[in-house]
Amino acid sequence: MRFMNVAIDGPAGAGKSTIAKACAKELGYIYVDTGAMYRGIALYMVDHKIRPTDIEAVKQALLDVNVTLRYEDGKQLLIVNGQDVSDRIRTPEVSAAASLFSAIPEVRKALLDLQHDIAEKNNVLMDGRDIGTVILPQAQVKIYLDASPEIRGKRRYDELVLKGESVVLEDIIEDVKQRDYQDMHRETSPLKKADDAIVVDSSYMTIEEVQNKIVSLVREKENA
Ligand code: C5P
Repeated sequence: MRFMNVAIDGPAGAGKSTIAKACAKELGYIYVDTGAMYRGIALYMVDHKIRPTDIEAVKQALLDVNVTLRYEDGKQLLIVNGQDVSDRIRTPEVSAAASLFSAIPEVRKALLDLQHDIAEKNNVLMDGRDIGTVILPQAQVKIYLDASPEIRGKRRYDELVLKGESVVLEDIIEDVKQRDYQDMHRETSPLKKADDAIVVDSSYMTIEEVQNKIVSLVREKENA
């Protein structure tokens, strides 16, 4: 039996994780947040004071870092070397570091097997940057979820404010643009729409509208 694989790619803050989570719940699929995996590796590197320019040190550290996703009561936890770091990976510092470390081919290779393995054994909704293009090119449904940088920045800003962090909107929009640039212009697996992906622009859509659209696209394929 071949499992259903749904790829959701797009830039930072387009709403991928919120929407992927909601769709996975409705469909009864496993949600795989690949950005969290890159964040886990980046956190390890930051904690160990390893710089992304020091490729030898990065390669060495990759031998010592073990990233896994665990599911508890429908919640996804990110575990790095046995520790639950689900909250620690969400800071702006780790966001910026994840974008830098994820450009390193060895880092991407380290996560590829883990991502393939989960998709081979489960119905998954996987979100990231290169899922439809590189990781799951055979996915039955591919979505490219987009929104303007200003709207994405505002969403991130609202999230951080809700968590009690004091941040400046313009800085967050600048961070979003900076990460877009890094993610789209790197040599290995740049963020790019797969030729057969369906573009969904969430700028002026509610979460429910986007969710309904994706769920109905998946249901169509399930029944095909
Ligand atoms: O999606 P999220 O913002 O959590 O991802 C953090 C960073 O990880 C992104 O800026 C991107 O550089 C990287 N990433 C990636 N490939 C993926 C998922 C995330 O390069 N499949």
